[in-house]
Amino acid sequence: MLRLNPNVTNLEEEGAFAVLDRAMALQAKGHPVINLGIGQPDFPPPEHVLEAAEKAARDGPHGYTSPVGMPVLREAVAAHVAHRYGTNVDPDEVIIVPGGKVTFYFACMLLGGPGAEILYPDPGFPPYREAIRSSGAKGIAYPVREDRDFNFDPDEVLSLITAETRLIILNSPANPTGGVVSGDTLRELADGLCRHPGVAILSDEIYSHLVFEGAGFTSLMQFPELRERTILLDGWSKTFAMTGWRLGYGVWPPGLVEHVRKLITVDHSCVNGVAQVAALAALTGPTEAVESMCRTFAHRRQRVVRGLNALPGVSCRMPNGAFYAFPNVVRTGMSSKELANRVLEEAYVAVIAGDSFGANGAGFLRLSYAAGQPDLDEALNRLHAFLGSL
Ligand code: PLP
Repeated sequence: MLRLNPNVTNLEEEGAFAVLDRAMALQAKGHPVINLGIGQPDFPPPEHVLEAAEKAARDGPHGYTSPVGMPVLREAVAAHVAHRYGTNVDPDEVIIVPGGKVTFYFACMLLGGPGAEILYPDPGFPPYREAIRSSGAKGIAYPVREDRDFNFDPDEVLSLITAETRLIILNSPANPTGGVVSGDTLRELADGLCRHPGVAILSDEIYSHLVFEGAGFTSLMQFPELRERTILLDGWSKTFAMTGWRLGYGVWPPGLVEHVRKLITVDHSCVNGVAQVAALAALTGPTEAVESMCRTFAHRRQRVVRGLNALPGVSCRMPNGAFYAFPNVVRTGMSSKELANRVLEEAYVAVIAGDSFGANGAGFLRLSYAAGQPDLDEALNRLHAFLGSL
């Protein structure tokens, strides 16, 4: 009998991937499934990024790069972040990793461990909870509230801090709610955190380029008093439609960089060179493709939210960012799980039950509108017919 590590065997798989498998199985049987479950842009990466990658695939680099990333790419990331948020960023603080996820995973490994507590959003991106768990730390969920436009209450978050709290994970714009944390909320949290100098903050801003008109985005990088304990997570997956390229970056407090570097040498050595060249082209090249993708998401958002609010038993707030709608389905009389299952099996529309993102997501569904408009319209028609027939 093999004896396995419970820190690994007790992990839960991200629900979106399980739904993807079920949707593909139904599709393989010939059912016309529309997949609004998985969160990735339905666009190709910008053309100049593909060209740079094609050239790099021939000319190199073909060997290992520095574990923390190619110097030229770290410089470009530092300049990009500094320009966006009006702050200084040293290239030595930048670490290139294979996907946005890796930054929070390493943050949990570094700051977590047995006895530590880490605060995370609920509903929130499920791998946070599992990364915390796999480090041996205890995850403490803080609520994200529909009636606050999917912001958290800073006092509530601060009240959960104990002597064991090592890290708070923030996410804005957020998965699964599409909520954007307001500057005022961050300011109140930052003021309160001055009383807790031993607590680090990881700000997952992977959707930072997907913020809609009028919403206004504030980055945690805009709070200089927190800089020495802020870890910024961002990357290329959502902004440049490069989810499969596995690229991300973190801006780390200088004292932590050497430890993350060691983790990288144990774990994956470095990000592949071709992807890093493509990442550089993405950051330094023309921005039209990204802007046009954002305009398309903004347009779809309006139609999808309007369509959802017209469904029997459903109400949906206008999300301010990312590409998710998080409708409240309590009035349908079904649990999120039952509704998500039935909608997949009977209407062939894949959506995710809100409680896969934490207990506070019960009573909601997550729909990704990173799908073509005809598919979105057809999905809404099917949902209408399904809910109307109950
Ligand atoms: N953070 C959030 C909030 C996400 O929704 C995702 C992907 O869905 C990630 C991080 C991971 O991004 P990547 O695919 O770059 O690892």
